Amino acid sequence: MKKKKKFYENIMLVLLMGVILLASKRASLPASGGGEEKYDVPIIMYHAVMKDEGRSGKYVITPEVLREDIEYILDMGYEPVFISDIINFVYSDSPLPQKPIVLTFDDGYYNNYLYAYPISKEYGIKAVISIIGKHTYLQSESGEKQAESYSHVSWEQLKEMSDSGLWEVGNHTYDMHNTGKKNGLLAASGKNTEEKNKNIISDITKLQDLIKENVGVTPKTFVFPFGSYDENTNALIRDLGFEATLSCIEGINEISRGGNTELLYRYNRPAGVSTKEFFAGIFNK
Ligand SMILES: [Zn+2]
Repeated sequence: MKKKKKFYENIMLVLLMGVILLASKRASLPASGGGEEKYDVPIIMYHAVMKDEGRSGKYVITPEVLREDIEYILDMGYEPVFISDIINFVYSDSPLPQKPIVLTFDDGYYNNYLYAYPISKEYGIKAVISIIGKHTYLQSESGEKQAESYSHVSWEQLKEMSDSGLWEVGNHTYDMHNTGKKNGLLAASGKNTEEKNKNIISDITKLQDLIKENVGVTPKTFVFPFGSYDENTNALIRDLGFEATLSCIEGINEISRGGNTELLYRYNRPAGVSTKEFFAGIFNK
């Protein structure tokens, strides 16, 4: 009798574990099929792309690595989308592909135009470039010869990327990215919060106007320099009309209709990790 009881207890335990396993598996899998209401969306954060492998590091990868990443992403059935596709899914009726992913490039480097843009055209995939306005402005004004390692895109190049339909432009501030302490908006100058807020608003609005004037689009996405924000800056960005903000915190975004598009998580893609290894940690979450 005692043995039988133990047997049933074991059966119940196995069943219970099965249910838990199924539930956790379900939660971690990307939604399948069209017309879903919820998706797990990884966002990848790239910066510079340089041919010189000696320069590879935390924020620099080679074009070969980028190409491998893109081929792997596509092989795994993921489809790169814009942040605005996510915004339109969340706040409007637009659908998303079965397995959405977002590839973001921060700071607006010329090497994105030089290497990432041709690769994106080759594979027909979407990406997001979020520029620091002052660098693009100065590059465009000076007309200086561009270098792979440090130059930024010009308005003309940015417009070409945007016009291709494959690149979306994000706002990464006009000139609030060069603070010594790497805390971006939180280092805004001003005697008090009111004055600081005024400076933040004028900086970001300046870049919105410049992008509108030179590229013909109005960014809906704001990328916090160094991922630094607080409640105050968050509210300011929302009031400026941005519909999504990107953080530097790692994690998978649970995107649902009517849900949240603020402070979206991103995975930084450093050099020195194989494509498979890097994405295994993301796709298997
Ligand atoms: Zn940046």
